[in-house]
Amino acid sequence: MIAEQGDWVARDLAHVWHPCTQMREHPDTLPLIPIARGEGAWLVGTDGRRYLDAVSSWWTNIHGHAHPHIAAAIGKQAAQLEHVMLAGFTHAPAIELAERLVAIAPKMADRAPLNRVFYADNGSSAVEVALKLAYHWFVNRGAPERNVFVALENGYHGETLGALAVGDIPLYRKTYAPLLAKAHFTPVPARTPFATTDEQLTAADAAADALDDYLAQHGSEVCAVIVEPLLQCAGGMHTYHPRWLQRARAACDRHGVFLILDEIATGFGRTGTLFAAEQAGIQPDLMCVSKGLTGGSLPLAAVLATDAIFEAFLDDSRERAFLHSHSYTGNPVVCAAALASLELFERDEVIHRNLQRAVSMRERAASLRELPHVADIRQCGMVVAFDLRPDGDWQSSFAADRRVGLRAYRSALAQGVVLRPLGDVLYWMPPYCVDDDALDLLTDVTARAIREATA
Ligand SMILES: *Cc1c(COP(=O)(O)O)cnc(C)c1O
Repeated sequence: MIAEQGDWVARDLAHVWHPCTQMREHPDTLPLIPIARGEGAWLVGTDGRRYLDAVSSWWTNIHGHAHPHIAAAIGKQAAQLEHVMLAGFTHAPAIELAERLVAIAPKMADRAPLNRVFYADNGSSAVEVALKLAYHWFVNRGAPERNVFVALENGYHGETLGALAVGDIPLYRKTYAPLLAKAHFTPVPARTPFATTDEQLTAADAAADALDDYLAQHGSEVCAVIVEPLLQCAGGMHTYHPRWLQRARAACDRHGVFLILDEIATGFGRTGTLFAAEQAGIQPDLMCVSKGLTGGSLPLAAVLATDAIFEAFLDDSRERAFLHSHSYTGNPVVCAAALASLELFERDEVIHRNLQRAVSMRERAASLRELPHVADIRQCGMVVAFDLRPDGDWQSSFAADRRVGLRAYRSALAQGVVLRPLGDVLYWMPPYCVDDDALDLLTDVTARAIREATA
C-alpha cells in the first residue's frame, strides 16, 4: 500500500504543477498526500490513512465530502444534459438556481432586491465580472473616468489580474503590481485583541470615516467599493464589526458608488448566517458567491446584481451589453450540484443546527487559551482562529524562518488532521457535518501541533 502511495507521488511530481505551492518544497519539506476518496468531514488517502478536513478543502466544503444527495444530483444531470452554452440557450438547473439565489439573497426593506444572476466558474472570475459590471455601468452612463476601485486593506479577492488589483496581500500581489488596475486601499477596522464592544465600534467608525473622507475627495473617480464582509479569510482570519459595513453602505450611497460584497468565503453559513451581510442588515449592489455554492463539490460562481445595474446594459448597441462569457457559463451539472446543496440547507436545517455546532467549537477552542504561544483566539460562526506568538505575546512574533505555521501543519498531518495555517495563523473551518468526536480530536491534535511547532 505504502509503495503504491509513493508511486502516485512520483508520478504527480513528474507532471503536475500545484496551486499556491513552491514546488521545490515537495515532497521533503512539504508532504504531498494522494487522496483516494472522501467521506463526511474526512479524506482517505490511497494508503488508507484518514485525515480530518479541518479547513473544508480551501473553505469550499459544507455538508461533507462525496455527499450522496449532491453526488446523485450530479450523476442524474450529467446523464441527461451535461452542457449547453448559455448564450441563446437555457435549461432548468440555471433557471431554478437563479430563482433560488435571488430568493435567499440579503435584502433591505427600502431597496430594490438583487434580482439578476450572472454565472461564472470560480470566485476570481466572479470578482472580475463584478468589477467589470461596475465600471461598464458608469461607461454606459457616460462616465468612463470612474476607473478606480476602492478595497479594504488586508483584503483578498482571488488570483486573476482584476481580482489581484483589489487584493492587498503582498505575497500574492507584489510581483504583478505593474500589471494591475487602479485601486485605493482603505483601512480595515483595526485588530484589537480583547477589545470591548465599545472599542470595536470606535475602530469601525475610525475606519469608516477614512472611507467616507476618501470618497468625499475622490468619489468622482471611483466606480465601486469591494470588500469581504465581517471576515477577511486569506488575510489571516481577521474579523471586524458589522458597524463598518453599515457605514460603508451609507457612504457608497452618499457618494454614488457601488458596494460589491465578496461573499465567496463567507457565504452559505460560514459566519453563522446564510450570508455575512445579514449580520449588518445590509444589501450590496453586487454580490459574489462561489466556494460553498455547490457544497464544495464542483466549481461554480455567481454574481448577483440589482435590476438598476442590469437595465443600464439594455440598449440597441452591442457594445453597451455585457459581452463577458466563459465557455462553461451556467453549466447544468454544476448548477444541479448547487441546487442539491441548497436543498440540504433546508432539509437538514443547517443554519439552525450550526448554532449548536458553533458553541461546540467555542467550548473546545477555549481550552487552547491555556496553551503557551496562543494569542487572540477569535470566532466568527463556523470559523475559529488564533495566532501563534511567542508566549502568547500579541506584540511579538516568531522569526519567519522558524516557519512555525508550516511545522504545525506537518505535525497535524502526521496525526491525521488537515490544518493549513495562513502564515502563523491557525484556524478551524470544518465542514458543517463535523461531529463532537471529530472536534475533540481536532482540539487534541491542534494542541500537540502547537507544542511540536514551537518546541
Ligand atoms: C477564495 C476567494 C476568492 C477566489 O476564489 P477562487 O475560486 O479561488 O478563484 C475570492 N474572494 C474570496 C473572499 C475568497 O476567499
